[in-house]
Amino acid sequence: MNCARNSGQQDICYYDPAMDQVIRHRLNIVDELRYAVARQQFSLCYQAQKRISDKKIVGFEALLRWEHPMLGAVSPVVFIPVAEESGLIQEIGEWVLRTACHAASQWEQPYRISVNVSAEQFHHHDLPGLVRDVLETTGLSPSRLELELTETAIFTDMARATAILNELKAMGVSIAVDDYGTGHSSLGLIRDIVFDRIKLDKLFVQNALGNETDKAIIRAVIFLGRSLQTTVLAEGVETEEQFAFLADEGCDEIQGFLLSRPLPHDLLVATGKVSLIAE
Ligand code: C2E
Ligand code: MG
Ligand code: MG
Repeated sequence: MNCARNSGQQDICYYDPAMDQVIRHRLNIVDELRYAVARQQFSLCYQAQKRISDKKIVGFEALLRWEHPMLGAVSPVVFIPVAEESGLIQEIGEWVLRTACHAASQWEQPYRISVNVSAEQFHHHDLPGLVRDVLETTGLSPSRLELELTETAIFTDMARATAILNELKAMGVSIAVDDYGTGHSSLGLIRDIVFDRIKLDKLFVQNALGNETDKAIIRAVIFLGRSLQTTVLAEGVETEEQFAFLADEGCDEIQGFLLSRPLPHDLLVATGKVSLIAE
């Protein structure tokens, strides 16, 4: 029944053993996720973000990694939706925020630290309260913290979203709209909410060189950002050609494999990307 409902086109679906496997796999992940924080299976990687005008690193995005003893490395694309559905995202999200802010508070350079916040975490908890507590505990300046939200996360409940975002902004925390251009209501959103940064989804960047439509979309978003005085960051920049195109078009910041892969904290320090405050 669920298969027919979800397909949108078929009225009748026949049982297939693969359906059981999908459900079993999900249940397995939920069971394992439940203990992942306590068993210290999570870690964070940090990916650099660079300003094009002066070629300076301006921040790092914290990206969650889950290494399970039996399942191996599980992608956040797989386990974040499961964590959201099961409610486990609250505990996991809090761990991410505390760990990322603590790490950044140890850096000598005052880089921005960007943390992804999922829809569930945003709408169903006292996010401003948690952020306030984490900033107090870690001593990180609010101006160094940026929260990344997707269009869909915000649009789920615009009135509530606006109130929460205003509270966070009043604390001095910045807000970025992540994966911009892939949600439903891009223009309405940036009309109603003033973001500090628009993160143009990597889909456009990666198709841009061979596709005039994607080029046009990138130009339009950069123009929009400039008109609204909002910084535009292009995600997923992998090649010099993509970088040159974005720089020519006046994009403000980039993030992607060209600059650096997401790195564990010890490697960030060992490779000299950040230095730690001396004890
Ligand atoms: P995102 O926030 O848009 O993060 C960017 C993703 O693009 C990361 O994938 C990163 O590794 C990947 N990426 C960066 N540069 C390049 C590039 O040049 N080429 C390509 N092909 N990919 C690049 P990752 O780490 O697998 O994370 C996927 C998504 O999972 C994230 O997308 C975010 O939505 C979610 N996620 C990751 N960590 C967290 C977290 O702590 N909390 C929440 N709620 N979601 C998270
Ligand atoms: Mg992100
Ligand atoms: Mg993104």
